[in-house]
Amino acid sequence: MHSGISKSTIDFTKHFITRNRLDCTGDACWVFYPGMLFKEIRTWWPPLKNRTHPHEGIDLCFYSDDTDSISMIRPNMLVPALMDGTVVKIAPDFLGQTISIQHAVQDDEGRSLYGLYGHVVPLDTVSEGCTVTGGEPFAGVADAEQKGAPMPSHLHITIAWIDERCPPEDVSWNSVKCDSRIEMIDPLTLIDLPATLKNDNPAMM
Ligand SMILES: [Zn+2]
Repeated sequence: MHSGISKSTIDFTKHFITRNRLDCTGDACWVFYPGMLFKEIRTWWPPLKNRTHPHEGIDLCFYSDDTDSISMIRPNMLVPALMDGTVVKIAPDFLGQTISIQHAVQDDEGRSLYGLYGHVVPLDTVSEGCTVTGGEPFAGVADAEQKGAPMPSHLHITIAWIDERCPPEDVSWNSVKCDSRIEMIDPLTLIDLPATLKNDNPAMM
């Protein structure tokens, strides 16, 4: 078990809405289509096909509110940290950069909770070694269209328990798949991400 952490203490969605001044009516929720969730096999962008590896986390791209209209994340929207932590690594990914944050949470085995925030651009004030505060923005969403990518701009989040014997430089998109010192978990089990699951994928419209 891990101490001091529960969904109710992580207000990611509330901070995301506030920081980006999103116009939401009532209760906002994230909208997930097949392929966007943890461990899913296929892509959610055209052409729909199998991923090279099961999805290492979740993709946040669409959100909705009480009006049921669906909106999309836009480039440069601010990304708040899930919890307090330290930026331990910033590395390029295929849409932008991935920022790895060692959050200030440990389990009984001394493992740290890491968040890997993919497809973002760090704010000017953010570099490796700096600390972040839960709920405070540390990055913006990268512009996928500018990259000529087949998928829209979105935020990927991987959550993992990582052994202290695994130094930050060893944490990568390759190692999270196969390194025994790294245990990925489903972000939805941890984060307050009110979710709606849908089957009609707008990427295919
Ligand atoms: Zn993803």
